[in-house]
Amino acid sequence: MLDPPTFDTALLQRYDRPGPRYTSYPTAPQFNAGFGEAELREAVLASNGDPIPRRLSLYLHVPFCMSPCFYCGCNRIITRDLARGEHYLVRLYREIAAMAALFDRDREVIQIHFGGGTPNFLSPAQLAEVLDTLRHQFTVSLSAERDISIELDPRFVSPADIGQLAAAGFNRASLGVQDFDADVQAAVNRIQSVDETLAIIDACRAHGFRSVNVDLIYGLPRQTLAGFARTLETVLRARPDRLAVYGYAHLPELFRPQKQIDASELPDAATRLALLQLAITTLTSAGYVYVGMDHFALPDDDLATAQARGGLHRNFMGYTTHADTDLVGLGVSAISHIGDTFSQNPRELPGWQHALDEGRLPVFRGMRLSDDDQLRADLIQSLMCQGEIPISALERRYDIDFEHYFAADLARMQPLVDDGLVRTGQGRIRATSQGRLLLRNIAMCFDHYLHQPANAPGTPGPRFSRAI
Ligand code: SF4
Repeated sequence: MLDPPTFDTALLQRYDRPGPRYTSYPTAPQFNAGFGEAELREAVLASNGDPIPRRLSLYLHVPFCMSPCFYCGCNRIITRDLARGEHYLVRLYREIAAMAALFDRDREVIQIHFGGGTPNFLSPAQLAEVLDTLRHQFTVSLSAERDISIELDPRFVSPADIGQLAAAGFNRASLGVQDFDADVQAAVNRIQSVDETLAIIDACRAHGFRSVNVDLIYGLPRQTLAGFARTLETVLRARPDRLAVYGYAHLPELFRPQKQIDASELPDAATRLALLQLAITTLTSAGYVYVGMDHFALPDDDLATAQARGGLHRNFMGYTTHADTDLVGLGVSAISHIGDTFSQNPRELPGWQHALDEGRLPVFRGMRLSDDDQLRADLIQSLMCQGEIPISALERRYDIDFEHYFAADLARMQPLVDDGLVRTGQGRIRATSQGRLLLRNIAMCFDHYLHQPANAPGTPGPRFSRAI
């Protein structure tokens, strides 16, 4: 059982520095152009040879959005031209067919997730058609544990649409809310009413969706404690199964839409922390379990039960209960994780389209993990999901002497030990209740790439959001 997080303002302020979110290790900036289509094909063929067929998770990226949210850091295209969705699907079907042909048919698909952008830019009929295509090309599981999930923008979907999505097979939904406060919504150009949002949650429940997630953001312009408290209270009335409460990362040089946010309206560092504390206190008092890295779940939700039995997993879609799958990313910018490789599709639409029009798999970069990468990926995965590093298990699995192998990393971690963020004992390193909000700071100690000279502080390396 993990300790619930405790909130130590001074410590959090001290450790609030930029770092990766570790939805993968190595992180995407380490991918390189030396890994292309041939390497991806080879990786799939090798994975087909596993003695026990490894199941598949499919991620489909829909890049279009109807309206620009100013805080957005996603890869998306703003348009109201619905024909663009139709054209996109032509290429997406080509990619699905090309990828599916590589996998043996005994590779069961246990999870399908539509992300964006705004997946419901596509109509329910189009989304149902995509699912039918996937069922035709892959072996999609019929088991009760299969997950077919979609990120929904409640402003552009109706309760009747939810009925059609359920009939098509969707059983999980994630709704973007961020904040219901009218001032905040105006500042970020996302006007979304409470009624339309709650009506979609109700419709998901009425149509038998297994789980509904709501995304909130703290640290947005004009956000106040009183306003955010009202938002939390409103959301809790609907009692979603899961909540994600992300910190807004203001990086306008990296994400151009953020230039439209008036930086003087952003809450100061103390208010940001107070907003996070408010969210944690409110949600845990309401019975939610803090799963880790911004995520909360009701105790009987699959995420919480998977964590309790050690079966939680983290990938580009966030936390998931389906460990030990190969991830197949489809669509512009999507990332695949097959065996010991990562590969990514072009981030811009023309590059992705062009490759498919030429009959190529649209891979523009990736990497094959070294033995050291795999060990560190395993370590970081365990830390992000279970809040601990299983020293003895890693020594057995990788035939290493942990203290010797990670001597430099453990030295880097010593200040965190001194500050009470981690504790060592009984063959494991464990995040304490103070350390649970700073998992990525702990993970950063074990990130080989972060400590290379090219990424040293003060050099122009990859830009990451802050920890809090
Ligand atoms: S936040 Fe979501 S809906 Fe808004 S522009 Fe970004 S991807 Fe689109």
